[in-house]
Amino acid sequence: MLVLGAGVAGLVAAKELRARGHDVLVLEASQRIGGRIWTHRFEREGRVFHGELGAMRLPVSHRRVFDLIDQVGLTPKLRPFLSVFQGKGGRLDCAGQRFGFGQLPAGLSLPEWPLAQGLDPAARRFLRRLALLVTVMAPREVRDLAFPQMNGDFLAAVQRHLAAAGPEADFAEPGAILAGLEAVRGRINQAFHLFLSDILLKAAEPLFQLAGGADQLPLALAARCGAEIRLGTEVMALELIPGGVMVQVNREGVAETYQAAQVICTIPLPVLRRMPVAGLDAQTRRRLAGMNYAGATKVLLFCAERCWEADGAHGGASFSDRLLRQVYYPHNQDFAGREGVLLASYCIGADAAPIAVLPADERVAAVRREAARLHPALARDGMVLDSISIDWTAHPWTLSACSTDWDPGMQQMVQDAGAGPGEAEEPQAWRCGGLVLAGEHCSRAKAWVEGAIASGQDAAAMVACPEPALTV
Ligand SMILES: Cc1cc2nc3c(=O)[nH]c(=O)nc-3n(C[C@H](O)[C@H](O)[C@H](O)COP(=O)(O)OP(=O)(O)OC[C@H]3O[C@@H](n4cnc5c(N)ncnc54)[C@H](O)[C@@H]3O)c2cc1C
Repeated sequence: MLVLGAGVAGLVAAKELRARGHDVLVLEASQRIGGRIWTHRFEREGRVFHGELGAMRLPVSHRRVFDLIDQVGLTPKLRPFLSVFQGKGGRLDCAGQRFGFGQLPAGLSLPEWPLAQGLDPAARRFLRRLALLVTVMAPREVRDLAFPQMNGDFLAAVQRHLAAAGPEADFAEPGAILAGLEAVRGRINQAFHLFLSDILLKAAEPLFQLAGGADQLPLALAARCGAEIRLGTEVMALELIPGGVMVQVNREGVAETYQAAQVICTIPLPVLRRMPVAGLDAQTRRRLAGMNYAGATKVLLFCAERCWEADGAHGGASFSDRLLRQVYYPHNQDFAGREGVLLASYCIGADAAPIAVLPADERVAAVRREAARLHPALARDGMVLDSISIDWTAHPWTLSACSTDWDPGMQQMVQDAGAGPGEAEEPQAWRCGGLVLAGEHCSRAKAWVEGAIASGQDAAAMVACPEPALTV
């Protein structure tokens, strides 16, 4: 059995297939296991400090992630990941003002805030808080679709909700904001819903991380799955043939051809779309073409001192409406000295473009300058010892960060947060003849490790129970 790609989805599929007694060969283009789980390690005087270029936080509701972590023996390494709502000292840099996360300066002007005049004070405060969170936390595509929703029916529903909730309701709390917004379901589009359910809610729920680096999960999976993993083996073309799939690869400069009755392909779609793939049916071609992807950039600064702690930041994050967008502070690492790794900038979607276009050294310099607006000590000579940045859109084996639903279709109104009838039963992998497509893009938890695991599991189940042979 062939599995293409040694990210989480491919490794989970390989593990499940081995458990069912199949021989499995995993082909991976890069020299690294883990795909979009990628821990970078800085070294100084024999000590190691890490930061995450890919996935870093694990929401407590993602049960498959925690089951898998348990299966590979990593549960003792789980630590809380303090989110923006739980960390201490996170700041907002918005509309030219810098202030604490819980604050709402009276004179703050939010340029995109189209709120009607004449609202009562409680509704104004609720909406200003929400508009501030959308401004600093939502990627631009989502922001652009969410803002026009904050009027008309939405405002009326908010006013009604606030009147019912009473004056004691504290709308500075994310939980209260979300509870309040239950009242406006049906009056918001999918973009706004995505912001509330995936960005705000996920930031507000308990999160975890793996002490020592997220890449321990794919590495442990690879070590335990029992499959052979061939690194440096780039899939160049696929062809569905009678009775199976032909896979053309470039293995360390040498062309090779593999053939298998069934192949699980977890190659991200932006890469797959560029590849010759012969024999796909019309439905699969439509699925491939229809999927949207968003980019992302991250910049890690390895600092001589965790200077942000002197400003009161311990875990959690700061947000900016400028170039940086999100800054995450390390927490619960085994600190062996004064040094620390700051995720000085994390940009998603269209917000990533202004950083992605900069050459790597200018990118780091620009981010450092911006981050020094929040923590001036970062500008000091000798403070930044080393750095690394990534533009996931330029990464050859992904060509993007994550699949998304952020497109004009997101204008559609959302009546109910849950899955539609029957939707929950849809497999999170797509079969076309002997080829089974899998990966986070096929899942319902897009852009999360949870989705990649679900898809890998469903792909393995599909292959383990092949469709009955066609008889005429
Ligand atoms: C910046 C960023 C932050 C994220 N943050 C989080 C987070 O905090 N929490 C969370 O749960 N999720 C997060 N995610 C999402 C999570 O990382 C992904 O959903 C998950 O890792 C995807 O796994 P996958 O196996 O589907 O794809 P991948 O991990 O991309 O695996 C695909 C594999 O295929 C290989 N490949 C590509 N082309 C070829 C080819 N031609 N031939 C052979 N092999 C090939 C790739 O090298 C890769 O190893 C984040 C992602 C990014 C990019």
